[in-house]
Amino acid sequence: MPKTSSKTTTKKFKRVKVATKKEIAEIKDLFLLHYPQSVTELEYRNLYELLISVMLSAQCTDKRVNIITPALFTAYPDALSLANAELDKVKEYIKSCSFFNNKAKNLIKMAQSVVENYDAQIPLEQSELVKLAGVGQKTANVVMIEYTGANLMAVDTHVFRVAHRLGLSNATTATKVEEELSRKFKTELHLLHQAMVLFGRYKCKALKPECEGCFMEEYCKSKEGFKV
Ligand code: SF4
Repeated sequence: MPKTSSKTTTKKFKRVKVATKKEIAEIKDLFLLHYPQSVTELEYRNLYELLISVMLSAQCTDKRVNIITPALFTAYPDALSLANAELDKVKEYIKSCSFFNNKAKNLIKMAQSVVENYDAQIPLEQSELVKLAGVGQKTANVVMIEYTGANLMAVDTHVFRVAHRLGLSNATTATKVEEELSRKFKTELHLLHQAMVLFGRYKCKALKPECEGCFMEEYCKSKEGFKV
């Protein structure tokens, strides 16, 4: 997953006109129509693999993570093996990932706390996931969204950008955008999260958004800035 942090700011985003209630409802319907059953592009086979993939994906592309993880999961197939791993060996497996030094430390610490406190099983509750090393609210929410279809929003750089361009939020942090989107959309947040990630990644891109023929054009508050 591309970068996000609660410290994400909107310095480069101009304040835009806020979408009306009617527009929000129509935007929601359009996202659900165009992305009815979207899921993460991270490849995983169980909750342990999903959590590790999401942790690695902070400020790293899903494609890169999918290249790294097969060998990592073969070497460390569960929390117990990862808890006992040598730091340098874990670093070696994930060295092509951004911030691999910290991520390697956090992966081992996460696994150790899972072994110590959760009988070596990854807890499947947002409130417990956030207690694990290296697992913030966004990571916990993404895991819950993907694994359980929980009605939660998570804001990465794509969701953040799309929310601003559509006038869904003018908030300056990912946490506030998450709160605002959750309040405005209310239901089906997991599907809307995935939809906004994919829309932002492939259509409403940061530098050259594909505005021509965009299904959100009618609701877009930013398209004038991209006209050539
Ligand atoms: Fe994004 Fe362009 Fe569509 Fe606006 S019109 S939502 S900037 S792709």
